[in-house]
Amino acid sequence: MTTGSLNTEAGTDPAEERGLVAALTVAEKVLLLTGADSWRTQGAKALGLRPMTTSDGPAGVRGVIKDERSPSSSLPCPSALGATWDIGLVHELAAALGAEARSKGVDILLGPTINLMRTPLGGRGFECFAEDPVLTAEIAVAYVTGVQEAGVATTVKHYVGNDSETNRWNYDARIAERVLRELYLIPFEASVRDAGTLLVMAAYNKVNGLPMTEHESLLKDVLKGEWGFDGVVTSDWHAARSTAATALAALDLAMPGPDGPWGESLARAVADGAVRPEVLDDKILRLLRVARKVGAMGGNADAPAGPARPELIDPRLLRRATAASFVLLRNEQEALPIRPDGVSSLALLGPNAFQPTIQGGGSAGVVPVSVSTPEQALRDALGGQAVITTAAGCQTWVMVPEPPPGSLRDPDTAEPGLRLEFRAADGTLLASEHRTSTSLAWWDGVPPGIGWGESGRIVLLASFRADSSGPYLVGAAGVGRLTLAVDGSTVADELTSVPADPVEAMTRPGEVRAAVTLEAGRATQIRLEFRPATDGEGPLAVRLGIAPDVDEDSMLAEAVQAAGQADAAIVVVGSAAMTESEGFDRSTLTLPGRQDELVSRVAAVNSRTVVVVNAGMPVLMPWAGDVAAVLYAWLPGQAMGEALADVLLGHAEPGGRLPVSMPAREADCPVLYAVPRGGQLCYDEGLLIGYRGYDAAGVAPHYPFGHGLGYTSWAYESLHAPQGGPGPPSRDDVGAPGPPAPAVWPVLEGLVAEFRQQPAPAGRRPAEVGHPELDMMQRPFLNVIHRSSMPGQLGCRGDTVVIAVMVGEAGLPVQRAGWRVAVFDLQVDARRAACRGRGGQRRGDGHRQPAAPVRRVHLDGGQAGPLPRHRDPADGQRMAGRPDGGERLPRRGHQQQAGNRRRPLAAVVIPRQPAVIRLVVHVALHGPGRAGDGGGRGGHHRR
Ligand code: BGC
Repeated sequence: MTTGSLNTEAGTDPAEERGLVAALTVAEKVLLLTGADSWRTQGAKALGLRPMTTSDGPAGVRGVIKDERSPSSSLPCPSALGATWDIGLVHELAAALGAEARSKGVDILLGPTINLMRTPLGGRGFECFAEDPVLTAEIAVAYVTGVQEAGVATTVKHYVGNDSETNRWNYDARIAERVLRELYLIPFEASVRDAGTLLVMAAYNKVNGLPMTEHESLLKDVLKGEWGFDGVVTSDWHAARSTAATALAALDLAMPGPDGPWGESLARAVADGAVRPEVLDDKILRLLRVARKVGAMGGNADAPAGPARPELIDPRLLRRATAASFVLLRNEQEALPIRPDGVSSLALLGPNAFQPTIQGGGSAGVVPVSVSTPEQALRDALGGQAVITTAAGCQTWVMVPEPPPGSLRDPDTAEPGLRLEFRAADGTLLASEHRTSTSLAWWDGVPPGIGWGESGRIVLLASFRADSSGPYLVGAAGVGRLTLAVDGSTVADELTSVPADPVEAMTRPGEVRAAVTLEAGRATQIRLEFRPATDGEGPLAVRLGIAPDVDEDSMLAEAVQAAGQADAAIVVVGSAAMTESEGFDRSTLTLPGRQDELVSRVAAVNSRTVVVVNAGMPVLMPWAGDVAAVLYAWLPGQAMGEALADVLLGHAEPGGRLPVSMPAREADCPVLYAVPRGGQLCYDEGLLIGYRGYDAAGVAPHYPFGHGLGYTSWAYESLHAPQGGPGPPSRDDVGAPGPPAPAVWPVLEGLVAEFRQQPAPAGRRPAEVGHPELDMMQRPFLNVIHRSSMPGQLGCRGDTVVIAVMVGEAGLPVQRAGWRVAVFDLQVDARRAACRGRGGQRRGDGHRQPAAPVRRVHLDGGQAGPLPRHRDPADGQRMAGRPDGGERLPRRGHQQQAGNRRRPLAAVVIPRQPAVIRLVVHVALHGPGRAGDGGGRGGHHRR
């Protein structure tokens, strides 16, 4: 097995390989092009090819089974990774994920997901990095590069237009070519061209009338032709639904197997002349290329790489990355960080403080190695310094929660957990095992006679001991017949319906419930028998839940009382287990259950109320103006509690900035409904998704894209545009561990500059840069936010750091395929803290608008030259520019810009070390037809 990096292709003889492939029979060829089972590809002795193992990501690597005996590191969800805006960190994390995959015998990771967050209701939005294509592309490139450096191939997905879950198998996304080019294709293009992803996954949906697995123009012409993709296009699972059309449109691999639309049908299509044999050869050569890179050539053709000892991701890295993704949306009166010496009693409230939602549902889910809950982590961190009172306040689950660990015993062995049996229809025991999870799923590997349409049954047996006496709910979930018995009496026996999307068999199966009264400490015998539906599809899954049936009014009252008696209240609210998932979209942005009521009532009795939102995508926060602080924690993976304690107590900076606009009201969302109409999902909004849409409509989001506060303070001491200077760093330099970066380190270009210190001196006033100036987004042409981070030590206080703004076409990653980049109207924009600075205006709802920029330098095309220094008498910060806040530099023609790309345009003095600088720039893309008119229109300021 190869470890550590992708193999090179040195030593391979392409002619010889082509000869070997050509010598295979058609039957042998088609065999290779469909999966061997749910997750593995076929091997071929004649080629020295072993089967390759795929596994879902992107928030962890599950492996070929979902089983608590083989747990995985659980990463912050992709929207949280987008919120880090930190390609160095994402690269580091991805490399560790790749190493874990490699150690588990995984050759191909099915991720990352690089669709855009078109609507906040999108069920799979948590799996995307951002609403912005270039932020998505940058993070995707870092992710793909990191995983592939560990010797594991990535599969960027889902190509393309897979932006809703409702009817995702069939809807037709109607997207104008310009919109595809300027938004949805950008992350795919970058992953192919800049990161060399080895696989691309063709989505279920159609685009402009054609299924993506048959989309000749997007697969063959754009992906393989224009971008030169030489890897494998795999179908999404079961997405290939035709024979010749998929084969000809350049799909290379039909997954899963062993059945599918290719096999013998494809062999017949070759015999009929509908598909030329060379078409098959090309697909196999692509597969071999991937195989060679992951070390699947030249070994034992029968054996996939065997799992070695799992090399789990260092929990300290997960904890650091998680804290770096948290976004501090609001922080009044320095409510955060909490100073233990200033708080002697703390009320820890909200359902997610005790049962956090660490990951979204669907194929991205893993069985986590461990889960650090906010409750446990805060108790550990505060260790006796403050009295902590706890109350969930309300319940949000849609399926009866799994019973707490330790409350169940296996009746055979008396170990904690349960007994799982596979039985034939006549009751014969086929297999039996001890399990500790009550939520079980299988793709392969169940005994013969068990499965969809089979007569065998899956039986769960356990003895349950209740903590307290009273009414309980017992729930059984699965697609098929569920028979539940408590102490030998059948309490439920029902057939659940087959969901529209097969993945719902795992993420949202039907549930039957029974109400029972239990006595504290007494062992209650539970038996659940599950017979999978005759017409079910997808993974087999069954789940047992047991929970007290409590009165929510009294839960709320208890929480409010606790809040009223404490110095400060922390309320952890958010999505429940089945709120955000693959397979379905959300129907509302409102928090589930009575959580809004809980927060409002707590805020009314405690002015130091800190709300932590545990959700992968935006939720409405109608109470935000009434609470002291709001921290967005995403779906943070296994390190949630520890990272939360670090941030709440000021041991770590809340490092995130929003990768998605947060709406104040559902009606404000530029695109809200994810539901196709008449089978079509019309992207009528064109380019105006996310912040572009808000800007075009003149609507302020509740919290804008890019927003996020910190705990530290910064000061600009100068900002000017010197002549000449060093060039930009290579990608390798950015975020590379090792010795401190030089003090003078140019990075990419800036519209919004964001300076902050790390580690944060606890208790310092938060000061951060705001968000991009929204009306700059709405341009006649595409505006792409291009950013780069400058992590690491930047030098001592007072050192000048030069920021190189790349002006011109050569250095920007988006000028391809007949499109060209023209930079215009660059603006280095130094702002005060959003939501706190002078100049901020209060809106009617009491929420403070982001403050106006302190100073700006406008660079219309980039005639860079030193600017007069200016000292701002108001705050003592020395800024370059005009006293009115802006310095306009002379314009240059676009032709001249190309040679100008290494010209640094701004320099700042970092107040204190170490620090992180992030910069954002807007550039314009001109389509082929716009070459002539670009400069004039783009160079115009609207204000
Ligand atoms: C999902 C993919 C996933 C595949 C395998 C599909 O339903 O859309 O993202 O990789 O299943 O689990």
